[in-house]
Amino acid sequence: MAAVYIFIFIFGLALGSFVNVLIYRVPEGKSIIAPPSACPSCGKRLSPLDLIPVVSWLLLMGKCRYCKARISPRYLFVELLTGAAVIGLFLKFGTSFAFLAFTYLIVILIAIFFIDADHRIIPDELVIAGLAGGVIVMAYNILFPGQMIYGGGKWWLPLAGILSGSGLLLLVAIIGMLVYRTDDAMGMGDVKLFAPIGMFLGWQLTLEALFLSIILAGIASLLLIILRKKNKKDTIPFGPFIVIGAYLCIILGWDIIKWYTGLL
Ligand SMILES: [Zn+2]
Repeated sequence: MAAVYIFIFIFGLALGSFVNVLIYRVPEGKSIIAPPSACPSCGKRLSPLDLIPVVSWLLLMGKCRYCKARISPRYLFVELLTGAAVIGLFLKFGTSFAFLAFTYLIVILIAIFFIDADHRIIPDELVIAGLAGGVIVMAYNILFPGQMIYGGGKWWLPLAGILSGSGLLLLVAIIGMLVYRTDDAMGMGDVKLFAPIGMFLGWQLTLEALFLSIILAGIASLLLIILRKKNKKDTIPFGPFIVIGAYLCIILGWDIIKWYTGLL
């Protein structure tokens, strides 16, 4: 049994190394397939041995084998984070279509987490890749209604998910623009990001993810102001909080809804 988890974790680490490729190449508009990975410092092509997730970084002590330039520990962190996220999905969904579907989504979301934190952009390419996956999820749910990934829902739930996430956020953005008379009250990237999330989560969990991400972003902003890292005029990217909110809702969403409605 442990062997299965080790296998899934290694699978997650390998996906994590692909996430690293997405994080560094998508914002620069480079192909994610060719050319093969090279050291950003000396440009030397990395051998397959250098590309083994986690192990190669540890063996080389975070330095390039050829020029000894320091390789950011973030590569390692992204691999481990993706591995952990995939294990979490496997614990929740086991061997199922839902596991594969959410693993696909989470690869895209982790890449967006770091790209938005670094560059304050949510690349359209990743949103479109997410939507393409969402269309497959929707088709699967229509073909196999008994195995729906949104707790006993209807076929139109993915479309309702787009409304409850992107729709609501767009409404907030429009109101913000009218009130503040600017056109940058809310990043349109965040509105777009909720479209694939909505298709994978259905409308209930998407709404929950939206509330959760707003609360998390609010707490983080408050902490940064208290710690005097930021002042009130600064903004923080919202994308990373949307990603955390969405992942928490994928894993715990229905449990939170059941617990909450039990209180009422
Ligand atoms: Zn090098």
